[in-house]
Order: sequence, then structure tokens, then C-alpha cells
Amino acid sequence: MSKPDYDYIIAGGGLSGLSLGYRLIHSELSAKKILLVDQTLEPKNDKIWSFWHEGSPPFQDLIYKSWKQIKVGFGDQMILQPLERYTYHSIKSSVFEKVVLKQLQNHSSVDLLEDTIVSLEGDESRATLKTSTNSFTADYIFQSCLTPAEIEQDSPCYPLIQHFLGWEVETADNVFDSSTVTLMDFDPNFSGGIAFIYILPQSPQKAMIEYTIFSDQLKQKPFYEEKLAIYLHNKYNLRPLDYKITRTEYGKIPMQDHRYVPRYAPRVINMGTVGGLTKPSTGYTFSRIQRHVEDIIHQLIANGKPALPHRSPFRYRAYDLWLLQIIHDHPATAMQIFEQLFSNNSIDEIFRFLSEDHSLLQDFKTMSRVAYPPFFRAIWKTRKRLFEI
Ligand SMILES: Cc1cc2nc3c(=O)[nH]c(=O)nc-3n(C[C@H](O)[C@H](O)[C@H](O)COP(=O)(O)OP(=O)(O)OC[C@H]3O[C@@H](n4cnc5c(N)ncnc54)[C@H](O)[C@@H]3O)c2cc1C
Repeated sequence: MSKPDYDYIIAGGGLSGLSLGYRLIHSELSAKKILLVDQTLEPKNDKIWSFWHEGSPPFQDLIYKSWKQIKVGFGDQMILQPLERYTYHSIKSSVFEKVVLKQLQNHSSVDLLEDTIVSLEGDESRATLKTSTNSFTADYIFQSCLTPAEIEQDSPCYPLIQHFLGWEVETADNVFDSSTVTLMDFDPNFSGGIAFIYILPQSPQKAMIEYTIFSDQLKQKPFYEEKLAIYLHNKYNLRPLDYKITRTEYGKIPMQDHRYVPRYAPRVINMGTVGGLTKPSTGYTFSRIQRHVEDIIHQLIANGKPALPHRSPFRYRAYDLWLLQIIHDHPATAMQIFEQLFSNNSIDEIFRFLSEDHSLLQDFKTMSRVAYPPFFRAIWKTRKRLFEI
């Protein structure tokens, strides 16, 4: 059989595909022949990726702002806390894509192709990517663009979506506290899920402000827009003429009890959101993608075989599933749980728990500070599903 066209094909040039491409060309594997395919290789100004990190963060030079204080609000009560262990960072997708694509373009062993991928197949010796006009083979394909059939055909019990609309606003006056991220300022008037405002202030005159909902029903855009306008008025006394909307960000992130599907086909490894790397109870994905990419490179160097997407330990899959059940079936109770969680634990502790970096004892400490009965009900309700995911 002839040699494959490439060592590796990266199918999908979004966050995970570009993170992998970047790490590969900066590793011992930089001479490997790589093809990266995406339907568009034009940098998109459509996302701000935020994450907490201890120590020196990934893509440090591309970070546009970092914060050491977090605020969480419940009606009239506002909790403000410094971060001791972690720092909260944000990266703009447009900057990330521009910089990484340029480096890949200038690298002698990387080819870039703008085309729509129609299929990905694999067998024990090679993997094949097909577009409508071309076909390419590789030792391995890393894919973040096609949802695996097992996930398409599965019916999650708690099909929640994190959906949000954000405005980047600029004001003439100093309005925002640029030292503090508002992680969640809950909307007590929302029903049918839970909803909150999320604010990333860039300067006293500029902030990204998002209205975010965890529910199984999307809303029409005017709904989020009205909520944002009301919040800007109530919180900062701003009327529409007092601010300029310089960018809009709309997003949907799956928060579901999905199955673990590490491969799309033999030799085709799933990555990113389609690889199940979104944490079901929060929607955060950035750091989990970086960890998978690091593992892939490490294992390719060590034994020539790529790492599969990380699967959360059983107990974290259980916590996520219980919380999904409570948010989905009893959103008002979920709000109370969030309030207890944030009132009785430091944000550092919560971030560590959500990073799945706690000992069992620490987990119990964090969980013991919220009411038990909703969790007992959730354990009973989810008992079958827990062993399917
Ligand atoms: C608006 C928004 C904001 C987010 N913010 C955060 C955040 O702050 N923190 C966080 O942790 N997570 C965040 N997420 C979740 C997650 O980190 C992002 O969705 C992230 O981009 C996922 O990376 P990915 O590589 O899996 O997918 P993507 O970045 O979406 O990349 C997939 C790529 O595949 C390409 N593609 C798709 N189909 C085809 C095809 N048939 N042929 C060729 N190419 C194709 C697409 O063009 C795209 O470039 C956010 C998500 C959204 C939608």
C-alpha cells in the first residue's frame, strides 16, 4: 500500500484544530507533514474564550486581558472575591486565529486547505478525509468539525444549551470596574431555566456584557437584547444613547449528558466540542482542549499513538449529571444551589472543583456546603443514565 499523503490531517481549524497545529509546529514533531482543512481560513471575530489558569497560561502573548477579582450576584446580594490561586484570562478568537494561521502558513511542512469536509473514514492502517472534489490520507486525522453518529443518534435526558447574546459596549464616561469579572449576576425574574449576566470589562469605558441562559429552549434575539438594555440601565444608569455597541457575540454551547465517543472512525480522533470536551455543567471547554492537545503531542512523541479526549473521572461525570438534572427539572432549586455554592466556598475552591482537580475529601467539603435533598433526588433520577455516559 502506498504511503499516506500526510502524517497528520487536522480537520477543522477552530480552537482545537489550531491549538493542535500550533503545538505540533512548536514541538519535536515539527517536521511531520500536516494538512489543515477548514471551510473558511479567514479569522473570525466571533468569540472571546475565557478560562481560569494557575501559573503561566497557554497562549500568554495572545491574552488581551487578565483579572484577579470575581463578582457573583444574587438579587441585592453581591459576592466579591480576589483570586489567590488562579487568574481569569480572555483571548479573542480573531487574534488567536490570525496569529496561528500565519505561523502555520509560513511553516514548510504544513499545507492549508479551504474546503468543506464531507466525510472522514479510517481503517487499521490509515485515515481518509474527503471533500466534494478531493481525497487525502494520513496516519491520523484529528477532527473537530463533524458530530459523531453515536452522539447524533443518542437522546440526552437533559438536553440543556448554554445560549447567550453579548454586546461589546463603549461609553464616554468611566462606568465599568475593569479589575473585576462579573462571572454570574443571576436574573431572579427568569423562569424556564436559569439566566445571568456575565461581564468582561476591558477598561472603565469598555466591556463585553452577555445575557446567558441555561435551558432547553432558545430565545429570539430581541429577548436577550432587551435584557441587556434593562441591565445597563438598572445597573449603570446607561440609556441606549449613552453607549455604542461595537460588536455582538451570539453563541450556543451544548450542556448535555452526552456519551463518550473518543473516535469518529479508526485512526480519526475526536477533539474539542464534538469530542465531548465541553464540561456539561458549565460549558467551559478552552482548558480541556489545551489539556487534550498537550496529551496528544506527549503521546505521539512517546509512542507514536495520539491521546484520546480526556474522560472525566466517574464521580465528576456524576456531579455534572446531577446538576444538569436539577437545572433542567428544577431551575429555581438550581439557583439556590448556586447561591449556597458561591456563598459558602471561595471562588478559587469552586474553580478547582470545576477543574476536576480536587481530592475526594475536598469534593465532599465543597458539596457539603449546599443542600442535600435535591442531590438525593437527582441521584435516584439519573441512576440509569449515569452508567450510559
Ligand atoms: C460564542 C462562543 C463563546 C465561547 N466562549 C467560551 C469561553 O469563554 N470559554 C470556554 O472555555 N469555552 C467557550 N466556548 C466553548 C468552546 O470553547 C468553543 O466553542 C470552541 O471554539 C470549541 O472549539 P472547537 O475546536 O471544538 O470548535 P470550533 O472552534 O467551532 O472549530 C470547529 C471548526 O470546524 C470548521 N468546520 C465545521 N464543519 C466543517 C466542515 N464540514 N468542513 C470544514 N470545516 C468545518 C469550522 O469552520 C470551525 O472552524 C464558546 C463557544 C461559543 C460558541
